[in-house]
Amino acid sequence: MKVVRTFPRLLAFALTFLMVLTSTLSSNFIAHAQRRGARGRNRTAGENRASAGTNPKVDQSNRSFNTEVKRMIAEIDQRNIERTVRRLVSFGTRNTLSAQDNPTRGIGAARDYLYNEFSQIAQGSGGRLTVEKQTFEQPAAPPPQGRVPRATLITNVVATLRGSQAESADRVYVVSGHYDSMCTSPTDADCDAPGANDDASGVAAVLEMARVMSKRQFDATIIFMAVAGEEQGLLGATYFAEQAKAKNMNIEAMFTNDIVGNSLGGNGVRDPRTVRVFSEGVPSNETTQEATTRRSVGGENDSSSRQLARFIKDVGDLYVPAARVQLVYRRDRYGRGGDHIPFLERGFAAIRFCEPNEDYRHQHQNVRTENGVAYGDLPEFVDYSYIATVARLNAASLAMLALAPARPKGVGIVTGQLTNDTEIRWTANTEPDLAGYEIVWRETSAPLWTNSRAVGNVTSFVMRGMSKDNYFFGVRAVDRTGNRSPVSYPRPVARSAR
Ligand SMILES: [Zn+2]
Repeated sequence: MKVVRTFPRLLAFALTFLMVLTSTLSSNFIAHAQRRGARGRNRTAGENRASAGTNPKVDQSNRSFNTEVKRMIAEIDQRNIERTVRRLVSFGTRNTLSAQDNPTRGIGAARDYLYNEFSQIAQGSGGRLTVEKQTFEQPAAPPPQGRVPRATLITNVVATLRGSQAESADRVYVVSGHYDSMCTSPTDADCDAPGANDDASGVAAVLEMARVMSKRQFDATIIFMAVAGEEQGLLGATYFAEQAKAKNMNIEAMFTNDIVGNSLGGNGVRDPRTVRVFSEGVPSNETTQEATTRRSVGGENDSSSRQLARFIKDVGDLYVPAARVQLVYRRDRYGRGGDHIPFLERGFAAIRFCEPNEDYRHQHQNVRTENGVAYGDLPEFVDYSYIATVARLNAASLAMLALAPARPKGVGIVTGQLTNDTEIRWTANTEPDLAGYEIVWRETSAPLWTNSRAVGNVTSFVMRGMSKDNYFFGVRAVDRTGNRSPVSYPRPVARSAR
């Protein structure tokens, strides 16, 4: 941080500060004052820059951009995305049951194309991006129960950008799209199934993210993935998630991008800004005991996936002004599913990105014209600029996740005795660039975190005069450059750590 500032910058800073001070509500003002107090006790520059919470009214003026992340997402090029979508469409069908050995038509051609594209990107990464095909045999599950008439080989294309900080490299973030497609019948392997929006859009976004992100270094590991078998029952994602669980992989977050290509809805609404982020509230893998606790003290709005969604909104509001992040507090749309679900069922935090207004004439439809209406998932119905916006939102969020420390582990709210104070404790993070922690809070009826307080590099903290009965609390970790982790929501624990 530079010591000498020019006079006009100082003046502008002072004016901004005054405006913020006079325009905030009293509770926000208290939070602000508390943060200023906390700053005085902290020594690192990172902490000084890292004192903002999540309420834009309070915080935006204090937050500094990571200019490298801004530069990185500006490199995302919609022309590359359009080229990928049109190339995937050119294989005629990508139905999981279609030909695997035809070089020009069918899912095998798409698989080889994607493997080659990721491999080319890897060549420019100095050996840090590695690419593999994850192939498995899916047993037959014939209709009407299943969508796999006979045993079928399914291949996920997996590109791994290894984290550059040894202590963080085993922490993994996964971003995915599905490259298989379908026409009206999920088991028709012969019909044309262009799948431009569902889901060449998501795959093209992931490939473009890999291109710009593999030129940079991140503390943690990022996996860019194109899976198959989604339309057959989330098969590729299920296999990956099951393997990850068996190998005890530390997947801290998973994003699926599915139907992220259309800004003109079937309802006639054109909305090139809104990106829906679906996140579940009650964890899919919740135990009976956890459900009992939740009934007692709440928390149905505070799963790790919900914290991830709030993190994405914070990042998006700051880095991708072209996007309006719409948090949807449900796992997925009515009657629909996506590749985040097998991750959720195995205890991994996961969300789905999706366009705001779908057009069902262009999903899962045989290509045809009926009564003057064009059906089919064709590339002319895709908005490539919109996909680029979604890709930038993904890339900025992944970058900020993989640069930040891990979210705090072992977070507990001490319930052993009745008190009007709130004691929160957590396990020490051992990453070398850790600076400290922030406690965040909100009213129990508020949808987003509204306040934060830097508490230094400690593993427990007492919020004096604030009862755990009246607020929701959380903890996040901050590194020396001010990068923050997503929030961890505490479980009740009987005793304090001391
Ligand atoms: Zn899909």
